[in-house]
Amino acid sequence: MACTTNDVVTALRAAAATVAEHRVELTDLDRPIGDADHGENMHRGFTALTAALDGAVPETPGAVLKLVATTLISKVGGAAGPLYGTAFLRAATAVGQAPELDTAAVVAALRAGLDGVVARGKAEVGDATMVDALARAVEAAEAATSDGVAAVLTAAADAADEGANSTIPLVARKGRASYLGERSIGHLDPGARSTALLLRAFAEAR
Ligand code: ADP
Ligand code: MG
Ligand code: MG
Repeated sequence: MACTTNDVVTALRAAAATVAEHRVELTDLDRPIGDADHGENMHRGFTALTAALDGAVPETPGAVLKLVATTLISKVGGAAGPLYGTAFLRAATAVGQAPELDTAAVVAALRAGLDGVVARGKAEVGDATMVDALARAVEAAEAATSDGVAAVLTAAADAADEGANSTIPLVARKGRASYLGERSIGHLDPGARSTALLLRAFAEAR
């Protein structure tokens, strides 16, 4: 089953609801290893996105993804804004002007998003960032391509949870948490957690 523009909007509204629900949790994760603003940053961005979508829904999935990118870049700020913004911008470019996204397009969008985050932030798997969640998600999505969009998104969300949890024992090597060196060990990375939450929302959106 393909993803229509409406499906993409529904998924993004679900993501905004999840971010609102987990706002305090994300900020609490950012307190010991950062500056205690990740939940607020994400919430600001997704609130603005919801407002933009209430105004007018773009015509294609790619145009919606581009709106997400520009909104997050201008509203989230910090490290996460440009990183998520780049992810959605690359995803938008990957899907082009197609009126609907088939499974391969969804997987390609996820891969393009990861490539964008890596190009922008230069983090590798194991650096304890959102890349740890997103890279695992993309691998799982690619492995599930033949099973359809729903299976791809569920596989991505499950793998992102594992990838996020994998950051706990790691020394952070990028972003503010890296300033702590070994003292960053024992903490779940807030951006990895938000990536897992977004992918779970996409997988469960109806
Ligand atoms: P800031 O650190 O500017 O306050 P946020 O708190 O909103 O920004 O986001 C922090 C998150 O951004 C981190 O938890 C991490 O996942 C992610 N991050 C920071 N730097 C990088 C990077 N270079 N590559 C990938 N992710 C990064
Ligand atoms: Mg922060
Ligand atoms: Mg900050």
